[in-house]
Amino acid sequence: MALTFGTDLSGKVAVVTGAGGVLCGMFAKTLAEAGAKVAVLDLNESAAEGIAASINEAGYKAKAYKANVLERASLEEVHAKVLAELGPCDILINGAGGNNARANTDKEYFEMGDIEADTKTFFDLDQSGVEFVFNLNFLGTLLPCQIFAKDMIGREGCSILNISSMNAFTPLTKIPAYSGAKAAISNFTQWLAVHFSKVGIRVNAIAPGFFVTAQNEKLLFNEDGSPTPRTNKILSATPMGRFGEAEELNGALLFLLNHAAAGFITGVVLPIDGGFSAYSGV
Ligand code: NAD
Repeated sequence: MALTFGTDLSGKVAVVTGAGGVLCGMFAKTLAEAGAKVAVLDLNESAAEGIAASINEAGYKAKAYKANVLERASLEEVHAKVLAELGPCDILINGAGGNNARANTDKEYFEMGDIEADTKTFFDLDQSGVEFVFNLNFLGTLLPCQIFAKDMIGREGCSILNISSMNAFTPLTKIPAYSGAKAAISNFTQWLAVHFSKVGIRVNAIAPGFFVTAQNEKLLFNEDGSPTPRTNKILSATPMGRFGEAEELNGALLFLLNHAAAGFITGVVLPIDGGFSAYSGV
């Protein structure tokens, strides 16, 4: 049982994209525990079904849907099913996102001799890799807003939560496309918050700092459990001196969706980062 901090979402329908994944699967469970009926959307149908089953087994309400956030037709089809099976969408969490190695440089700094060396430099970045990352994060946030936010117009207490990142404030080395795409999400969050401000839809984002998940564990820890050089850099740039625990995102999630607590908050990108984004390094 997650803490729901007194947030009561009963009677609400929450649509969560990327909910077959680590963080948004947890968000889906948290929203269900707070009383929402949760539509668990993911390209990976079996992952979505697994999350929905675990929510239902715990006595809460969820339904899995296969959805591609990059295809309008797929989203429209799922929207029609959610409407018929759960009701109109009150809450949209745009969680589908991520990076791709084809859009990364091998090294942090470009140095003399790198072009001749066997290393992937800025000059070798793959256009289709960059497009993949921009589309998945930015378009994959914009399109679900177009499809699901229509349900919210003029209804009280509706809101959208996007997932930005630390790299949106200051880009992280090696990942120019992912950093740019998350910056676009932060910018779009502000744009949409202004655009929807007259019709009662709040739009906010969270910007998670560094959390150890299955995907990045190998980058952060060696096989013997000792920290990698990247871990040492991250922790020395995090004033609190540790990684976040995924559950530490739940408070921000519920607070921003809680209309009684956050009804005047729209257009913010809330860092949850142990102080990383506030620290200049000296
Ligand atoms: P994850 O890889 O576990 O989950 C992402 C999910 O999105 C996967 O289940 C995947 O199948 C799904 N997906 C991919 N493409 C899709 C598509 N086209 N349509 C529908 N679903 C699709 O990732 P995560 O670590 O849980 O991250 C969730 C979000 O949080 C992402 O936006 C990520 O960029 C962001 N984020 C994560 C961290 C972190 O430390 N893990 C930090 C900052 C931001």
